Amino acid sequence: MSASAPWTVPSVRAALLAKKISARELAAEFYARIERRNSELNAFLTLSPERAYAQADRIDATVARGEDLPALAGVPIAIKDVISTRGIRTTCASKILENYVPPYDATAVERLDAAGAVFLGKTNCDEFAMGGSNENSAYGPVRNPAALDRVPGGSSGGSAAAVAADLTVASLGTDTGGSIRQPGSFCGVSGLMPTYGRVSRYGLVAFASSLDKIGPFAKSVADAARILSVIAGHDPSDSTSAAVSVPDYGVEIEQPIEGLRIGVPEEYFGDGLDPEVRRPVESGIAQLEKLGCRRIPLKMPHTGYAIAAYYIIATAEASSNLARYDGVRYGLRAPGATLTEMYRQTRDRGFGAEVKRRIMLGTYALSAGYYDAYYLRAQKVRTLIARDFSDAFQKVDAIITPTAPTPAFRLGEKTADPLQMYLADIYTVTGSLAGVPGISVPCGKTPAGLPVGMQILAPHFAESRVLQIARAVEAATERGN
Ligand code: GLN
Repeated sequence: MSASAPWTVPSVRAALLAKKISARELAAEFYARIERRNSELNAFLTLSPERAYAQADRIDATVARGEDLPALAGVPIAIKDVISTRGIRTTCASKILENYVPPYDATAVERLDAAGAVFLGKTNCDEFAMGGSNENSAYGPVRNPAALDRVPGGSSGGSAAAVAADLTVASLGTDTGGSIRQPGSFCGVSGLMPTYGRVSRYGLVAFASSLDKIGPFAKSVADAARILSVIAGHDPSDSTSAAVSVPDYGVEIEQPIEGLRIGVPEEYFGDGLDPEVRRPVESGIAQLEKLGCRRIPLKMPHTGYAIAAYYIIATAEASSNLARYDGVRYGLRAPGATLTEMYRQTRDRGFGAEVKRRIMLGTYALSAGYYDAYYLRAQKVRTLIARDFSDAFQKVDAIITPTAPTPAFRLGEKTADPLQMYLADIYTVTGSLAGVPGISVPCGKTPAGLPVGMQILAPHFAESRVLQIARAVEAATERGN
């Protein structure tokens, strides 16, 4: 394996079977890379060499015995720090959980472990996954490996940057309103958001429970597919996880895309779209047409209301979910003369500014007298947006849009104005509200060399179709369009 070709799930497997490298040596190689680059990128918050080497040794012993290797044998994986990992500190990039060590693995993590993955460590993100630039981390921002003065996107910025910089083969992120897809676009890697309910949320620290999803980042669409096959599927510990059978996405991805109807909604190609993003997305669509897909213009009339609805629903759910950080049961406890004073001090010192802003917004939206005007209305808008999608999927097999209106912006560019930051989520929150699956796949670069992602959305549980189309775009992009 040459130094420049990134490791993939199959290349790790082949190298292990040929005894060209051991899982332990591979883990050590990745830790050496992390050692070299992490002080600059800040992608990892915690490293977990003890667990990684134990996992690697298990795989090496399996190889030595000549037994079959599990699906992700020896594959280094990084895990977003909002996902619980047994014995490994899980901070949610918050001061309030600075020293929290979960006693159990999230189901997705447990499944990766059973499939032979090697956990390098926990990745930086926006505090409690609230943000779109990774600048809301209590432990400092992540830098974009493609341009160090720019953000990696968020909230799963560390997970995307770690894959882009080859500090891991793949990673887990979470997506509530775009947090896998948008950093995937900004960093130039594939980021897959599964259907709501496809992957168990058990052990995912909740931000907005009706929207939160766990999904993979990888350098190739095929690797993202392989990881999804491992983590997907019903889990009795999460009552919202769906009892829908899980195909082998690594096989499904091979299906031809000829004849698919690709919907292109006009609302996603309007005024706010940077021409440097529009160009590669348009050329990606043209490539799909060459491969036999049919381009169908669409209208999704409620798109313009999605940001407002999302930021009411997500903050309302967050205000309730974050009530548990009271200094009694988890993490930080600041002293106070009375119980109320202790709560107040703990939450004041433990939470960052954006988390406080959202708790206040959400509490307001749910309060008596405002509930009907805000929360209930937002829920009605959510239904209308979901209907835009189900109407569209009567006519098309998939929907294609830009993932974000701009390429990665500069650190500090939007921090003074939270509303500007929220508005940048315009193309991702719609699919989140509808609960459909989506991916961001790299489709080109701006003239300055910044990555641009294309978003592909499909009906509920049609991840295979998302992956098939993404793979075609990936191949066309690699050929240089
Ligand atoms: N940027 C969006 C927000 O700040 C999405 C975050 C996410 O998906 N976790 O809410």
